[in-house]
Amino acid sequence: KPRAEDGHALDYVNDGSTSGHEKYQDGNKCSNCAFWAGEVSGGWGGCRHPQFSDVLVNADGWCNTWVPGG
Ligand code: SF4
Repeated sequence: KPRAEDGHALDYVNDGSTSGHEKYQDGNKCSNCAFWAGEVSGGWGGCRHPQFSDVLVNADGWCNTWVPGG
C-alpha cells in the first residue's frame, strides 16, 4: 500500500505534533490509537479505520478520529 500523505482524510498528518488541530494532544499518535493495526515496515503501518484502508499511516501520525488504544 502507498503511504498516506498529509490531508489524506480526517485531518490526517504524518507528524501529529505539527497538526495544530484543536483536538490534538501531545503524545497522541497512530501507534497508540485503537485503530492502529501494527507496523508493516520502517515506522509505517496499517489503520483499521475505513478511511485509511487503502494506505499505510505513520506511527507518529494523527487524525481527528484518534482514540486511545493501540
Ligand atoms: Fe492514525 Fe488512529 Fe487516525 Fe488511523 S484512526 S489514522 S491509526 S490516528
